[in-house]
Amino acid sequence: MRMVVKVGTSTLAHPTGLINLRRVEALCRVLSDLKNAGHQLILVSSGAIGMGAGKLGLKSRPQDVAGKQAAAAVGQCELMYTYDRLFGQYNHVVAQLLLTADDFSHADRRANLVQALERLLEMNALPVINENDTVATEEFGVGDNDTLSALVAVAAHAELLVLLSDIEGLYTADPRRDPKAQLMNTVPELTAEIERMAGGSGSGLGTGGMTTKLHAARLATEAGMDMVITHGAKPENLYAIVEGQPVGTRFLGHHA
Ligand code: GLU
Repeated sequence: MRMVVKVGTSTLAHPTGLINLRRVEALCRVLSDLKNAGHQLILVSSGAIGMGAGKLGLKSRPQDVAGKQAAAAVGQCELMYTYDRLFGQYNHVVAQLLLTADDFSHADRRANLVQALERLLEMNALPVINENDTVATEEFGVGDNDTLSALVAVAAHAELLVLLSDIEGLYTADPRRDPKAQLMNTVPELTAEIERMAGGSGSGLGTGGMTTKLHAARLATEAGMDMVITHGAKPENLYAIVEGQPVGTRFLGHHA
């Protein structure tokens, strides 16, 4: 199976901005194992800005554009260094792709990207993708990695998109505020009611939230693939997700 896995800053880093070693090590082990089992994987990883802030010793994620650009330039190195080391332990080769919105909106650039991705997958390398945050500032950027991962999954004709988040999935209400909130296992259709259940961004370090996840779900399901949201603290869940077992929330792809 060809799948795209997106991991958010809240999964990769502690609230301090420094890397969450236990999580990231577990994630790289599971992804390596899925590759060993023959699956084709593309990893979309956030964390450049958050980790850059941590590495630079900033007290919080920078709010100004130049500060974010600078933190991303530092953090992206740290991120790839970490992935290179951890995937290297399992003999997997990582490849960095830093993209901007234009790589999807211009047909020739999109074809160029797809060609590189296909060749990397053929070579059994693991593409690790992020937005090019140092240059993809507001007007050039996709803006969030949930959307970016869906654009990548659609461009690469993936069969499955998995978003590893700081929440188990989509709830009927905000579980941080409403104890009666229930996890939805399956979403066959993105109705107006489902859209209403989505709130704002959850954590201090990331930029996503349920709204961007539903946007990603729309792009993915309209292209015919399922999308799953699950908690990033349990990367082992990916095994069950690949087998189609009910974990987190699965948005069902529309088949023409
Ligand atoms: N590209 C950003 C980063 O690496 C994250 C964007 C997002 O979390 O949606 O820090």
